Amino acid sequence: MNRLYELPAWRAAEQIRCGELSAEEYVAHLLDRIGEVEPRVRAFITLLDRENLLGQARLIDKRVKAGEKLGRLAGIPIAVKDNICTLGVRTTCASRMLENYVPPYDATVVERLKAEDAILLGKTNMDEFAMGTSTETSYFGPTRNPWNLERVPGGSSGGSAAAVASGMTPLALGSDTGGSIRCPASFCGVVGLKPTYGLVSRYGLVAYANSLEQIGPITFNVRDCSLLLSIIAGRDPKDATTINAEESYEASGGSLKGFRIGLVRELLGEGTHPAVLEAVHRFAGKLEEAGAELGEVSLPILEYALPAYYIIAMSEASSNLARYDGIRYGFRAEGEGLDWSREFSLTRSLGFGEEVKRRIILGTYALSAGYFDRFFLKAVKAATLIRRSLLEAFKNYTLLLAPTMPIPPFKLGEKIRDPLALYLCDVDTVPVNLAGVPAISLPAGFHEGLPLGAQLIGPPLGEQTLLKAAASYEEVSPESFRRPPI
Ligand code: GLN
Repeated sequence: MNRLYELPAWRAAEQIRCGELSAEEYVAHLLDRIGEVEPRVRAFITLLDRENLLGQARLIDKRVKAGEKLGRLAGIPIAVKDNICTLGVRTTCASRMLENYVPPYDATVVERLKAEDAILLGKTNMDEFAMGTSTETSYFGPTRNPWNLERVPGGSSGGSAAAVASGMTPLALGSDTGGSIRCPASFCGVVGLKPTYGLVSRYGLVAYANSLEQIGPITFNVRDCSLLLSIIAGRDPKDATTINAEESYEASGGSLKGFRIGLVRELLGEGTHPAVLEAVHRFAGKLEEAGAELGEVSLPILEYALPAYYIIAMSEASSNLARYDGIRYGFRAEGEGLDWSREFSLTRSLGFGEEVKRRIILGTYALSAGYFDRFFLKAVKAATLIRRSLLEAFKNYTLLLAPTMPIPPFKLGEKIRDPLALYLCDVDTVPVNLAGVPAISLPAGFHEGLPLGAQLIGPPLGEQTLLKAAASYEEVSPESFRRPPI
């Protein structure tokens, strides 16, 4: 196969484990693909050195030859978002503040991938500290959408999604605080899953808004998504918020008889691009074709999701980012005659980008005496009501269906000067984080050569059900799962 990079990860791993495919050949092929497309896409902040990667692959081949039993990701390269700590490999959060930060430990998810014999390929570009929807706030410059280099790949895990879509890696990890896995998955035409809050360990994830975020898989197909989730999910003593997961997740597919799918009325109205509406209805039709029954559900409380999300996310960010003081680690502004307070303030003015500073300031405001009740507390109450109303909906529906993004991928630079316009793009993704439930974004068709996405939303711990529906959809809609012509 000359397009080895299109091989699903699960199959490549199977072939490597039985000696049918050499890990070295596979990794070399992907590195060639990277050499071909990365100069245009710029999905990575850090790529591991070619000789090092090939050396790791050769070691895998050697162990296969020796008859050793290898892990579920034997010889499979994976790209990891640059806010997930990797031992000895710099982890920048796409910020000048952490430009040279090299973690002395692996995040739990990375440890688990290595235990399955995966190969860390590199660290992917993102919005600075995961604050954004387009990967344009990165200190290292934007990533481009492999479907159209003038368009954004979505964000904040834009590098991960662009790398998977363009065949530079079969697997990637992203993080999703308010849509950062699903948005770029949708804009790049790949699969992205945001797990139930607590299902995947956040140990080693640089915190943005801890009460909302989860690490999750970004892959080209549903079965790879299940495989990756099976590996990273589950209780971790190092993260007290984690819960037990299934032994493994299957992308079984087949008939959806008995499934009731609820289209969320409030997310299919005003402000949604007609092409997106059409794609979501077409998606619903495919599920019906697979045996599901469709209905419509109204959740008026979702009107408050966006403001509640931004108040909570910014408040938590203002507190989490207080640790970047130039003293313990990270960037430090030094100068003759600077006293402690000037140095501290200069460190933060120069170390953080505009969007991060805007959020720290707004978050500090929302938490300050007198405003705490009016903003933060109210937002938390709204989140509780949103969770309640979603749980209520799951009494009648197996899964809910909505657009992932209200609009198709937009042009680079189009919205970056208008923060509010960018925030509004998150209207369909944030309810899921406020409610702590899982959701998967799937390719749902194209508009003028650009991919569109739809998301299935599940009840708490409904990942297995989501993956089954996703796999059935993939079976009946293979034309939606395409590679960009790059
Ligand atoms: N776009 C949203 C934000 O800017 C979500 C980001 C994320 O999920 N990390 O906050």
